[in-house]
Amino acid sequence: MAPPSGDNNNVVVSSNLKLERLLSMKGGKGEASYANNSQAQAKHARSMLHLLKETLDGVELNSPHTPFVVADLGCSSGSNTIFIVNVIIEHITKRYEASGYTDVPEFSAFFADLPSNDFNTLFQLLPPMASQDVGSMEECLASTGHRSFFAAGVPGSFYRRLFPANSIDVFYSAFSLHWLSQVPEIVVDKSSMAYNRGKIFIHGANKMSANAYRKQFQTDLAVFLKMRSKEMKKGGSMFIALLGRTSEDPTDQGGAGLLFGTHFQDAWNDLVQEGLITSEKRDDFNIPVYAPSLHDFKEVVEANGSFSIKKLEVFQGGSPLVVNRPDDAAEVGKALANSCRSVSGVLVDAHIGDKLGDELFLHVAKRATNKAEEILVKLQFFHIVASLSLK
Ligand code: SAH
Repeated sequence: MAPPSGDNNNVVVSSNLKLERLLSMKGGKGEASYANNSQAQAKHARSMLHLLKETLDGVELNSPHTPFVVADLGCSSGSNTIFIVNVIIEHITKRYEASGYTDVPEFSAFFADLPSNDFNTLFQLLPPMASQDVGSMEECLASTGHRSFFAAGVPGSFYRRLFPANSIDVFYSAFSLHWLSQVPEIVVDKSSMAYNRGKIFIHGANKMSANAYRKQFQTDLAVFLKMRSKEMKKGGSMFIALLGRTSEDPTDQGGAGLLFGTHFQDAWNDLVQEGLITSEKRDDFNIPVYAPSLHDFKEVVEANGSFSIKKLEVFQGGSPLVVNRPDDAAEVGKALANSCRSVSGVLVDAHIGDKLGDELFLHVAKRATNKAEEILVKLQFFHIVASLSLK
């Protein structure tokens, strides 16, 4: 349940329990909802399908008499996750058929995200099972507009255990693992050298703040891998895509830096200038996102040691904006504000209330409108794509 905005204006999202309870992409199907602002993620995921299929080709096929289990970690609410689960199941089905099995297993798909995720919207987008007689999965697969897998939602953080040991064949996680489990405490501690004064993100921030974020990211990823290594079946594989950066310097956060560290940052400063919030209120807010370099990521996978790296690369994703008329500066401005709000709006509203949240994103849109051309050229996302299999 989303906390009532306004009552919660003093939340500093530094403890991981608080963030776990609070964080979600904007639910529903409204203008700034994730469901309505994730076409770019859909496009980026589609451009990586060949890499996903390579990962799936590495999965060991078990007897078709045991269910084949897929889990999407950080599924959010919208149709992206359903599209991907279908791709995975179709590909694995083809592999079974090509391997001469006479049967195809039944498929089970787990949609996992934090408890505040709008699972209702997601569940309503799921097509019905193909037939009452779910005994025949092949019939299900053959009928279009129907679902060929058993579906379940899993509420919880992927930085904790989510599934029983040895139970998952394929883990998929897209555009989620750059979310930290918490804002590092020292970044919001005024007495610390790493206090992120004047900033709401680490893009262009001081090195100590950025290093605290890097450390948090690496600690979180290590936990994530440890949990998944327990939950994955022997022979299973994992496909991961997350925001990444091409620079080695963590204070240059690339596309994530432009999204959260420029117009969004300036809009927070506007609220301070206008006397609507204090500078401390702004400084207490930090976006718990970190776009790692390939090196940041690789170090953790190697130290964990449970997975072999089949593929690890930085992949150019393109712009995150949904814009129909790129020559309309106001539309570009609005698109940037919506994109930013769809992913950070819930945290913003919890911090300053939804009225000031509205005001903040009006400022974002106005500032971005004035820089529309530059945004269209410069706002490009890079993703780290990893294909890992259990050793
Ligand atoms: N995979 C989707 C959605 C990405 S949005 C797509 O491709 O479009 C990122 C999602 O990660 C959000 O829904 C957010 O709630 C989720 N997320 C962030 N931190 C998480 C955590 N610790 N555990 C589980 N999900 C998390």
